[in-house]
Amino acid sequence: MLIVMESRATKEMVKRVCDEIEAAGLKAHPIPGSIRTAIGVTGNKEQVDADRILAQEGVKDIIHVTKPFKLVSREFYPDNTVVDVSGVLVGGRELVAMAGPCAVESREQCLIIAEHVARAGAKLFRGGAYKPRTSPYSFQGLGEEGLKILAEVREKYGLRIVTEAIDTEILDVVSEYADLIQIGARNMQNFSLLKKAGRQPKPVLLKRGMSATLEEFLMAAEYIMNEGNRNIILCERGVRTFADHTRNTLDLSAIPFVKRTSHLPIIVDPSHGTGKRHKILPLSRAAIAAGADGLLIEVHHDPANALSDGPQSITPDMFDDLVGEVRAIGSVLGRTVNEENT
Ligand code: PEP
Ligand code: MN
Repeated sequence: MLIVMESRATKEMVKRVCDEIEAAGLKAHPIPGSIRTAIGVTGNKEQVDADRILAQEGVKDIIHVTKPFKLVSREFYPDNTVVDVSGVLVGGRELVAMAGPCAVESREQCLIIAEHVARAGAKLFRGGAYKPRTSPYSFQGLGEEGLKILAEVREKYGLRIVTEAIDTEILDVVSEYADLIQIGARNMQNFSLLKKAGRQPKPVLLKRGMSATLEEFLMAAEYIMNEGNRNIILCERGVRTFADHTRNTLDLSAIPFVKRTSHLPIIVDPSHGTGKRHKILPLSRAAIAAGADGLLIEVHHDPANALSDGPQSITPDMFDDLVGEVRAIGSVLGRTVNEENT
């Protein structure tokens, strides 16, 4: 439910309505606007008495939100959310490139890749210190040592750090080091992790689950927002289908759906979306053309010897070309890529 206040409504009137909502056991989310304030109402236990609310001073109207997602919906927040990742804005005019190896393998590996992607125009460095691997015998990541390497990358190149929290236990230490916390596809419906991510201060990069509908995807973001963290970036990374020419089927139609339905920014990860190096460039072009706010690209200087996801990792030179093409396509749409390095 969305309560629309009159434009002349005072702060006290808004507060009285919020108190009434909270007294009924529901949550009130005041949404100040340029003309008037609205109050979003969430909660599923008690019903609020609409007539009582309408009778309050300063209340103009009540809109019933029919969609299951509330806080992530455009009905609640009509303006685009721009997420501030330690000074890098995602969801505004600028297209943001996040790049790096699938896994942090060593200090030397990260410094080589970081130096290159920073020069090419990336503003965020993405590398996993904790890896969710299909096999328990595969490389699981360097853990906190990997986080320290990422901190050094930030220090040296000014790149913001994106890294994954694979469970609630790890979240605290990841939140200490990261500028943006990744929640991976396998954890999209790990509700305790989502809730905990919603209660800590860092922004969250939420990846779409491997077979999640877009409603399930947005509901996962709703869990985070419902705990108070509004800084969420969605990431389309492909879903499982019958197709076997590709690791996943990258669903670019998710972008216009999300843009229409939600105010949250969305980026695209063609690396996991396709699993194949030669598909990264064409699908990056397409993602930007379809309205994505940025890209997450796996880059490795020696993909043949990468400890994870080598076949989908592009080389630093390929990343240079990719940024150039994305910049050209972005300019048609009035969007820029790292203007400082052009
Ligand atoms: C990753 O980003 O390295 C990863 C494991 O991705 P996903 O969760 O999308 O599979
Ligand atoms: Mn990977």
